[in-house]
Amino acid sequence: MKFSEIKIAQHSGFCTGVRRALDLAEKAVQREKGPVYTWGPLVHNPRVIADLKKKGIEPLSGLKGVPPGILVIRAHGAPPEVYAEARQRGFTILDGTCPSVQKCQKIAAALAQEGKDIVIVGKRGHPEVIGICGWSGDKAVVVENPTEGQELHFTNPVGVLAQTTQNENNFRKVVAVLKDKAPELEVYPTICGATRLRQEAALELAKEVDVMVVIGAHTSSNTMELVKLCRQTGVPVYHIETAAELCREWLQNKDRIGVIAGASTPDVTIEEVIRVMTDYQRPEGQNIEDMYASTLRTLQEGEIISGKVVRIDNDEVLVDIGYKSEGIIPLQELTDKPTSSPEDVVAVGDEINVYVMKVENSEGNPLLSKRKAEHEQAWIELAKAYETGIPIEGEVLQVVKGGLIIFVGLRAFLPASQVGLRYEPNLEKYVGQTLRVRVIELDRTRNKVIVSQKVVLEEELAEKRAALWEELAENQVRKGIVTKLTDFGVFVDLGGIEGLVHISELSWARVKHPSEVVQEGDEIEVMVLGVDRERERVSLGLKQVLPDPWEGVADKYPVGTVQEGIVTHIVSFGAFVQLEPGVEGLVHISQLANHRVAEASEVVQVGEKVKVKILDVNEKDRRISLSIKDVAEEKAEEEYTNYQGEEDTASGMKIGEVLGEILEEKEAEIAEDDEE
Ligand code: SF4
Repeated sequence: MKFSEIKIAQHSGFCTGVRRALDLAEKAVQREKGPVYTWGPLVHNPRVIADLKKKGIEPLSGLKGVPPGILVIRAHGAPPEVYAEARQRGFTILDGTCPSVQKCQKIAAALAQEGKDIVIVGKRGHPEVIGICGWSGDKAVVVENPTEGQELHFTNPVGVLAQTTQNENNFRKVVAVLKDKAPELEVYPTICGATRLRQEAALELAKEVDVMVVIGAHTSSNTMELVKLCRQTGVPVYHIETAAELCREWLQNKDRIGVIAGASTPDVTIEEVIRVMTDYQRPEGQNIEDMYASTLRTLQEGEIISGKVVRIDNDEVLVDIGYKSEGIIPLQELTDKPTSSPEDVVAVGDEINVYVMKVENSEGNPLLSKRKAEHEQAWIELAKAYETGIPIEGEVLQVVKGGLIIFVGLRAFLPASQVGLRYEPNLEKYVGQTLRVRVIELDRTRNKVIVSQKVVLEEELAEKRAALWEELAENQVRKGIVTKLTDFGVFVDLGGIEGLVHISELSWARVKHPSEVVQEGDEIEVMVLGVDRERERVSLGLKQVLPDPWEGVADKYPVGTVQEGIVTHIVSFGAFVQLEPGVEGLVHISQLANHRVAEASEVVQVGEKVKVKILDVNEKDRRISLSIKDVAEEKAEEEYTNYQGEEDTASGMKIGEVLGEILEEKEAEIAEDDEE
């Protein structure tokens, strides 16, 4: 018999949950005094159980009458009653419940407390399912498949969760059925990451090979799921528990053989199966150990490899790197950033790069560091960035003496003088921000990286300025920020270029100081009045973007009408009077009074309210001629007229009557003279 390849699927054999429970039991028997028991068989594998028994670790199915000792709870977990009884009987509990199973137990307990109905999609009677049911207060209903789901009806809201080793497809189908059976359905897809990865690997491999051999106990639920999954591909699938069950005929005329093992299968069983398979073609002569070893990855300290996160605990993360056992990243080797939980950094299923710190620790697991892998990568990228000058991005982690620590793949120093374009007194505000910086000093031997944001900002500003000089043109209306107020005007930043709004261009009204119109920091719209690229000067106007008060002035102030105004200033030839903000007219010195005036201040004072007569309006030249004298004369005439009227009334005759009499007398005298 000759086949070209025996391929072992990734993620074969003990999962981390099982390995952890086994470690607990084995360490307990070495370290603790007194008998060591496990609650039920630690794994569904007779061979492993027999080995444990040899070491003095006995599985229990009940506690009554058993001398107290150490009780290891297996990865499948146990109902709360088991814990209570064990404590009551004086057992010391070592809890090996897999964290993924604990998560299911917590969900079930919470749902029960909320008064919701609970469905567990899993294998009835499986120890994990029994345990979860117990944590639900025995309120959960177990459903194995969609057909069973059809039988159910709920009036309460329902929470549905999966046994951790469930087939994902089956879980989805049951959920689809339950959607029509309950008024509300909360779905908790609690299939564990290791199971998911193993199932994916099984399917992938089954599609590639001519025959699949699945190794695992016949009672192992996760192994049976693997068998079902592989069969879906149409490839012949054989389920064996030990190498002794392997049949030569199964591999007859097959070229590529696929092997996968369930979560409770020890490495030694897998090795034996491979050895027997290889034996079938021994005449062709190939070293068995080499063949098995060739299916596994070899590791070297200091190398960077990629792997997939398969489990996250509080103090470590397990990564599948294709080695015979999963690699461990201790919490402190995860990241340089401050973090409270590993889940802030990675998620199950993430592909990550890791640095091999140690090929195997005392328990045979490779010790890995994500942080160091990032450092290695970061040094390469930082060197590139340093050479090319290309800016990089980093998150500010903290304020330290003299500057900031910024994470650019590793911790770099950003001196306070290099943070902003100007000195920045408040560095705290940068913590948590992502900045674009340039590497200005790099020394790997001294572990030194210094970066600058200032140089990046300066360049960006220079680019912006150049573009702005290109764009700027007269009559454009632009937004800007008032940066400085002076006696002669204000400076406005247009986005890299500052322009000046002269005080006379601030408002249509007379302005004594710019602060009457704008303040520093104001965002305003201005019109570009002039651009002098050679001298790099831009003149701006604010009033040009405001409504012109001179528009329609002739209609508003008709000639001959009397208006009220305020004297704004006095000149040698008269006084200016403001009719409204931005509209002023001149009272010529000759129009101030009906007597000779040497200086306008003899008649009016700045700030005085006066009545003026509109003599002329020249809207085009923005000129209005006014007269105070005319108003005074008209007033005097009016007063005189009023006075005369009063006199006549007092003598009992009207002025017409008086004049009539006088005329009559005169005419009579003339007639007499003529007769003579
Ligand atoms: S199969 Fe998953 S849930 Fe079960 S023990 Fe292993 S890791 Fe834990």
